[in-house]
Amino acid sequence: SYDELRKCTNNFSESNEIGSGGYGKVYRGILSDGQVIAIKRAQQGSMQGGLEFKTEIELLSRVHHKNLVGLVGFCFEQGEQMLVYEFMPNGTLRESLSGKSGIHLDWKRRLRIALGSARGLAYLHELANPPIIHRDVKSTNILLDENLAAKVADFGLSKLVSDSSKGHVSTQVKGTLGYLDPEYYMTQQLTEKSDVYSFGVVMLELITAKQPIEKGKYIVREVRMAMDKNDEEHYGMRELMDPAIRNTTALHLIGFGRFLELAMQCVEESAADRPTMSDVVKAIEIILQNDG
Ligand code: ADP
Repeated sequence: SYDELRKCTNNFSESNEIGSGGYGKVYRGILSDGQVIAIKRAQQGSMQGGLEFKTEIELLSRVHHKNLVGLVGFCFEQGEQMLVYEFMPNGTLRESLSGKSGIHLDWKRRLRIALGSARGLAYLHELANPPIIHRDVKSTNILLDENLAAKVADFGLSKLVSDSSKGHVSTQVKGTLGYLDPEYYMTQQLTEKSDVYSFGVVMLELITAKQPIEKGKYIVREVRMAMDKNDEEHYGMRELMDPAIRNTTALHLIGFGRFLELAMQCVEESAADRPTMSDVVKAIEIILQNDG
């Protein structure tokens, strides 16, 4: 309830701050029924205000799927904008891939994380009413629950972010550099296929653990070049693979080649050449089934 949230807001202190991002700071809180929550408190001016905001948030709070981080509530009063989400104890996929959280993700776990987040996105695209384009798919928006299952966060929020917010490209195009669909960037025509592009970049992160832009190099281009020099056994990926999964040769990782090719289809320059999110779901399901 609002009053409960109000109590939590009085508890905002550095001790329960868990992070900060494009919209402001994120705090951990506990509701009186014991539910652990993550409270996003928007920085003044980082989000659009007004009725449109409220309508949109109300819409988002009605979207439920096991691979989407649930919006538990929101508070929109006295200049404060707060969004309350279920708390994800194992942090972001990016933290795990960068080795910061101490969680080791083996190859099979990575396939399951890809499948879960793909299902969440496919739901937004095809089953949510009205359909929702995420607009900011990236590894810091994929959170891991207590069982390391993936849940997609921040869906539908990007369009509510003001242009001036950090991390977001200004003018009309919104998203995060390195994940941004080049066709959307050129044409400013947003479709579900833009999320597919960003998701392809996340799949490449699962293989390489690299950020989409590292030391000025774009992961998509690096992988494309490596695959052109295909060494058969590793699909050209020996150097680029995450050392944490490199111990077995790529051939011994189930479906490695198919997963890599699927990722590269997702990051095709032309949106028409990319699969839909439900195509991606089906393809990953098949890869996992073939493991027996
Ligand atoms: P960004 O704008 O970069 O996506 P966010 O504002 O969404 O960042 O989140 C900032 C940080 O807060 C995340 O990197 C994550 O560590 C943490 N966080 C966000 N949402 C949750 C949640 N529901 N449960 C646990 N931690 C969260």
